[in-house]
Amino acid sequence: MSLVDRDLKVIWHPYTQMKTALPPIPIVRGEGACLYDESGKKYIDAVSSWWVNIHGHAHPHIAKKVSEQLNKLEHVIFAGFTHEGAVALAERLLTLLPGNQQKAFYSDNGSTAIEVAIKMCLQYWHNKGEGRTKILAFKNAYHGDTFGAMAVSGRSAFTAAFDSLLFEVEFIDLPNKENIAELKSQISGLKSELACFIFEPLVQGAGGMLMYEAQYLDELMKHCRNEAVLMIDDEVFTGFGRTGKSFACYHVTEQPDIMCFSKGLTGGTMALGMTTCSQQIYDAFLSDDRLKTLFHGHSFTANPIACAAALASMDLFMEPATQSNINRISTSHKAFLDKIKHHPKVKTVRQTGTIVALEWETGNDTSYFSSLRDTLYQYFLNAGIILRPLGNIIYILPPYCITDTELSYIYSKIMQALEEI
Ligand SMILES: *Cc1c(COP(=O)(O)O)cnc(C)c1O
Repeated sequence: MSLVDRDLKVIWHPYTQMKTALPPIPIVRGEGACLYDESGKKYIDAVSSWWVNIHGHAHPHIAKKVSEQLNKLEHVIFAGFTHEGAVALAERLLTLLPGNQQKAFYSDNGSTAIEVAIKMCLQYWHNKGEGRTKILAFKNAYHGDTFGAMAVSGRSAFTAAFDSLLFEVEFIDLPNKENIAELKSQISGLKSELACFIFEPLVQGAGGMLMYEAQYLDELMKHCRNEAVLMIDDEVFTGFGRTGKSFACYHVTEQPDIMCFSKGLTGGTMALGMTTCSQQIYDAFLSDDRLKTLFHGHSFTANPIACAAALASMDLFMEPATQSNINRISTSHKAFLDKIKHHPKVKTVRQTGTIVALEWETGNDTSYFSSLRDTLYQYFLNAGIILRPLGNIIYILPPYCITDTELSYIYSKIMQALEEI
């Protein structure tokens, strides 16, 4: 039996309507920005394998460090025990973050990093004996698929089956020049109930690569600071260079209380989540009263192999070549947008660092489930490019090692699609 036939017998794929989806493509190896299937066909991974890969596939440095770690220590319980990789990774990550970030808590993925952040905020107020239990979030937010993370995400077709069970969240519009004053007064009105404000900085990824200006986020954050509303900066997607700077929080001056990381953390090699926090948050859990403990942990918390992958990825991230690749991709994206922004089929274009998006003009039919999305997806696959449009929004989000030739090829195929579809 072929791999595809065996797959179809036993596998249920994520975000996939198994009745109508085309069979999955069996990938056998990866190198640089490319993946290769069983028949040897090459695909440029223009979405970094769901936004996780930053240095390219099967990177030899990460492979070497992971393999060395495997022969030393594969895993150890992280309550009551520690190990070099977990400590070294926390030390290194914290030095890259705003000065107020002092402690690191490990989990397994982006959604769990968010769950931990939410629990830290809610229990912070609980431990202090203050009844602040409401959470503030942006409309169209995406913070993950577990229940807490889903609750602080925008309500959509994806959450519809669970809406009645999700805890109540105050959703506000993305800030801009016109509404910033109104948003601030909304926050002030709720402040005695608000435990925290959670946001994706500058770019709402899954919401459709929606972008907003750093200046207004900064104003909102300053206002939250004044009103003692804790801030969770979800850098699961924007962390590790995506927005042009190492972390998106460096586009603003105010510092968040809590930050969440996953996706690029291990260079896209394996699952790992981290939630960092300020001393103030951490101190609210220190007590002789055991009930003030943060009762949270996963079996694979701070897995040594995942930590080794993250440390190796960070070695590469710190190389000057990585920042120059990020700059090169940003410049190249900008030139591409200048070329296509006036095309009649292009409704709008936007870019933040290495993330570029264009909205396809569809008249009134903009549904995620519209056939345009499937047509585009298949068109690019046929051309050997992995792009997964979000409805009518095409975005490119490449590993930083992507070559100029590969980028030009992607741009040219998008321009060709604009003519042919
Ligand atoms: C992907 C994502 C998450 C969830 O991460 P998973 O590892 O997929 O659970 C959370 N927040 C943002 C901003 C994301 O893009």
